[in-house]
Amino acid sequence: MAKTNYKEALENPIFNTISQSSIALGIDSYVIGGFVRDFLLKRGTAKDIDVVAVGSGIALAKKVASELKGNPQVSVFKNFGTAMIKKGALELEFVGARIESYNRGSRKPVVEDGTLEDDQKRRDFTINAMALSLNEENFGTLLDPFDGLGDLDKKLIRTPLEPGITYSDDPLRMMRAIRFATQLNFGIQLASLQAIHSHKERIKIISNERIVDELHKILASPKPSIGFTLLHKTGLLPYILPELVALEGIEEIEGQKHKDNFWHTLEVVDNICETTDNLWLRWAALLHDIGKAPTKRFHKQNGWTFHGHEFVGSKMVYKLFKRLRMPLNDKMKFVQKMVLMSSRPIVLSEDFVTDSAVRRLVFDAGVYVDDLMTLCEADITTKNPRKQKKYKNNFKQVREKIMEVEERDHIRNFQPPISGEEIMTTFQLKPSREIGIIKEAIKEAILEGEIPNEYEAAKTYMLKKGQELGLSIDVQ
Ligand code: ATP
Ligand code: MG
Repeated sequence: MAKTNYKEALENPIFNTISQSSIALGIDSYVIGGFVRDFLLKRGTAKDIDVVAVGSGIALAKKVASELKGNPQVSVFKNFGTAMIKKGALELEFVGARIESYNRGSRKPVVEDGTLEDDQKRRDFTINAMALSLNEENFGTLLDPFDGLGDLDKKLIRTPLEPGITYSDDPLRMMRAIRFATQLNFGIQLASLQAIHSHKERIKIISNERIVDELHKILASPKPSIGFTLLHKTGLLPYILPELVALEGIEEIEGQKHKDNFWHTLEVVDNICETTDNLWLRWAALLHDIGKAPTKRFHKQNGWTFHGHEFVGSKMVYKLFKRLRMPLNDKMKFVQKMVLMSSRPIVLSEDFVTDSAVRRLVFDAGVYVDDLMTLCEADITTKNPRKQKKYKNNFKQVREKIMEVEERDHIRNFQPPISGEEIMTTFQLKPSREIGIIKEAIKEAILEGEIPNEYEAAKTYMLKKGQELGLSIDVQ
């Protein structure tokens, strides 16, 4: 094995401190894993640095902290035999080199002390098993017993040990393999793919939180379809997102087909990634059609329909988030809203666009109207260049109309120009149905363009409406 020196990876003085601390304790230490991989890939230097000590990682962490300015706190995780120091933006994680053996029921291994090479064997992938020495005699030397360097070159995710053992020991690695393949645009070795397929059921022992972490990372990648295609091909997807699997397939009745909504969805996700980094908008793209499976019908006259799929889909978003233990907060509500409204701009763009239709869209979407437009533009996946151009152009017009209407009517953050209280005092009313009726009428008049979104006009309209309802005005 060529022993190239990679000292430039270790220019940060922190590595010198770790090196000196190791010497003082009489132990060897190495930087390992993601930091080394990302340096070699020129992905920039990672903010989390994993250090393995051939000896006590906790003792090394304590020694390092005592040598650093300000003596940063050491967080010790005794059960895992690890310790963490935060220094500025850096997170340093220390662990003792170990041999791991697994029981079938859990991903928590039994741990014994080991050599550096034992520790490298327990790593998930060859590209994550490379270590750089922090020892005096060979500082900066790459220790790469499984040819991770060769795999970086081949753009290959490969396990150091037999893949079946690696994945069965810790099934989270199946998700990690697919996530790294997506993030780095790497392939996965065939034997690994086969092993993931054979052990797919073991994903059940992984907590939803860990799975969602990986899904987030897949979705945050430049081309998430790589990951979802792999999840699909390895058979993992039905355990994780069965709602997506249900969208796969094309049915044909009486010569009429519908599109394959699974592969369409993946295209939409890739499309949206070119225009937004908003993770939750990317989730919305992934889930925007999930209501299509339960609402699919065939009608002799109309062919295939998915009536109400947006509403059904938005209800499914809640269930899906709940099942995966994702937060049921404003992020979830945002995804629901995007799914619920996902067809609105399309309907608009097909017709002649009226101002009032645009005002209603802006009113309903509120501050998320731009996100909604981004989603709908990503939803254009037709391969017909003429149609592609037409749809894009229509959306451009809708966007222009939105700006125009917004500038004039300020609907995006709609606040009723007349408050309920003013209606009450004007007509000497106690809280009652009439107030709601008048408020709603004013809002409708604004959205319809009958009156501008202004106080004076709304007041006149209120008085007129009150008269129609037979209300008397307080003249004092
Ligand atoms: P990133 O931080 O970009 O997600 P990473 O490779 O640094 O990537 P971490 O989760 O930070 O991933 O883990 C650090 C290192 O620990 C990995 O590079 C790998 O060597 C090892 N590792 C992490 N999780 C596992 C696992 N489930 N099985 C085996 N080794 C693992
Ligand atoms: Mg890391």
